[in-house]
Amino acid sequence: MLVKQKKSILSELYVLEIFKGLCITMKNMLFAKKVTIQYPEERRKYSERFRGQHYIKATNGVENCTACMLCPTVCPAECIHIEAGERPDKEKYPVKFEIDALRCCFCGMCEEACPKDAIKLSNIYEMSMTRREVWDKDFLLEQRGNK
Ligand code: SF4
Ligand code: SF4
Repeated sequence: MLVKQKKSILSELYVLEIFKGLCITMKNMLFAKKVTIQYPEERRKYSERFRGQHYIKATNGVENCTACMLCPTVCPAECIHIEAGERPDKEKYPVKFEIDALRCCFCGMCEEACPKDAIKLSNIYEMSMTRREVWDKDFLLEQRGNK
């Protein structure tokens, strides 16, 4: 035979539980550490090892790249396209240097492989795009100031 337990009116109405819940909400609202930021006014500090948008390093206005073709060779996404040319002051240089941004998986292998420290990945993470984007040499050279 079931014996029905007698409950107080407070527990019947869940008043105590509602009050406990409100206390937790207020505690979190007033004292908990904030996890959101006011982007874009506030920005998160990313790790130095973060791999974002690429850039090409230059010395005295001349790109460090010697079009050795190591980076397109190691790139697993096959998204680097280089056309090499020759200049009297430099054995080789990239006439054309393009990275297909949508294919790139930001693995950083191009940066690792480069013997001239020419191709780098910056900490720029704002790369939203509405169309297929190819970063050309001029764009990649301009980005170097952003690091
Ligand atoms: S980061 Fe990786 S996928 Fe992107 S261009 Fe470099 S090697 Fe290719
Ligand atoms: S960026 Fe570096 S690895 Fe790539 S072609 Fe130029 S020198 Fe070679």
